[in-house]
Amino acid sequence: MSEKETTPKLEKLSAVKGMNDILPPDSARWEYLEDKVRTLMGLYGYRNIRTPIVEPTALFVRGTGETTDIVEKEMYSFEDKLNGEALTLRPENTPGVVRAAIEHNLTYDGGKRLYYMGPMFRHERPQRGRYRQFYQLGAEALGFAGPEVDAELMLLVHDLFAALGLRNVRAELNSLGVPSERQAHRLALLAYFEEHLEQLDAEAQRRLYSNPLRILDTKNPSLQTLVQSAPQLLNYLGDESLKHFDTVKTLLSACGVQWSVNPRLVRGLDYYSHTVFEFVTDELGAQGTLCGGGRYDGLFKLLGGKATPAVGWGMGLERVLELLKEQGETPTAPAPDVYAVIPDAAALPLAMQTMQTLRAAGLAVQMHAALAEGSNSMKSQFKKADASGARYAIIFGSDELTQNTVTVKALRDATLAQSIRSLAEIDSWAPTLQSPT
Ligand code: ATP
Ligand code: MG
Repeated sequence: MSEKETTPKLEKLSAVKGMNDILPPDSARWEYLEDKVRTLMGLYGYRNIRTPIVEPTALFVRGTGETTDIVEKEMYSFEDKLNGEALTLRPENTPGVVRAAIEHNLTYDGGKRLYYMGPMFRHERPQRGRYRQFYQLGAEALGFAGPEVDAELMLLVHDLFAALGLRNVRAELNSLGVPSERQAHRLALLAYFEEHLEQLDAEAQRRLYSNPLRILDTKNPSLQTLVQSAPQLLNYLGDESLKHFDTVKTLLSACGVQWSVNPRLVRGLDYYSHTVFEFVTDELGAQGTLCGGGRYDGLFKLLGGKATPAVGWGMGLERVLELLKEQGETPTAPAPDVYAVIPDAAALPLAMQTMQTLRAAGLAVQMHAALAEGSNSMKSQFKKADASGARYAIIFGSDELTQNTVTVKALRDATLAQSIRSLAEIDSWAPTLQSPT
């Protein structure tokens, strides 16, 4: 019996629902974005931090908050089979960064500016702009209490979007004051909602005593009028908090960032204080929030560290890329500069060495590779060369190579004659073959 008949055909496997493969050429868009991010973070003095994807579940229960959607229903939590530890795939990176900062005493000699980029996991209903594995970019400034750092962080987002050429993104901000101010507002809010109990939906009723602030950002249309007339936190802020908020706004305006105050922008947890903000677009339907952040002065203590002021944001990169695409920006992977045509397999050792030299001189060289397939005719090699998008083919003939030369042929410009180039002079001609960037 032949092998075909004895081996059963195995079932294909697919990716987990809501988790995506990022493939070329699309991955080039990701690299383009990541390059912009790294450059900008460097310009602002933010340094990269990489924390584990798996953390103790308790980190998020405490650090994200027991009453949040994330902890209530979105976490991928599991028990380590070997030692019974309760673990979770990180749904966000702020708790991990703060844990690491405490564990390694990162702020012992002053503030630290950090950024991260990587996958997060939330068990949500997948739809456009909402996935179960998604990528977040985040920046965190640890150990800085002043409003100028809140403004700096928002400016960073503004400049990133500008560097990407994004349009129609607006910055909204609000202030949550300090816990005592929120407590006074909370009482007023409870009294107001209790008065209108029959109008609340099931979710709002459930949140009434656990996290009433979150009712303010409900997405239920029938609650909008009720919520609009609810007591506003801004009216409960004292002088200090108002001053902090005003400074942020003044600095943003001075730096050309347009902003608007959204009194319903909230985060319902006690460790938040002062500034909260979002960057929003109307061009992505319901998933229009590109970036959300704020000051979380209480989080270090909550995670067992010393009281340390901190502020940061998280940005959904799929949404940013989606908006880039929507607005017509489509960076693609660059074609190779050179396609390497190898007339004769015997020339391979010398040809491959020479390709190394060309690459070291900065040329992107793609080698014709069909030794096993036997499709090595010059015709099929040049067909591939054309399809590769390269502007030049270099022909690595055995005879030329032994004389330390190669033949260069322009693929996109018929007026250019084929020429023989000396490898000894590579530094003078290699740059002329490079594609303009
Ligand atoms: P949303 O209200 O859209 O659920 P969120 O308040 O849960 O957002 P954050 O936890 O503040 O979002 O995360 C910061 C950013 O990460 C969001 O503004 C969004 O751009 C992105 N994001 C959050 N959840 C997802 C997801 N499931 N898929 C893709 N991007 C996401
Ligand atoms: Mg969410």
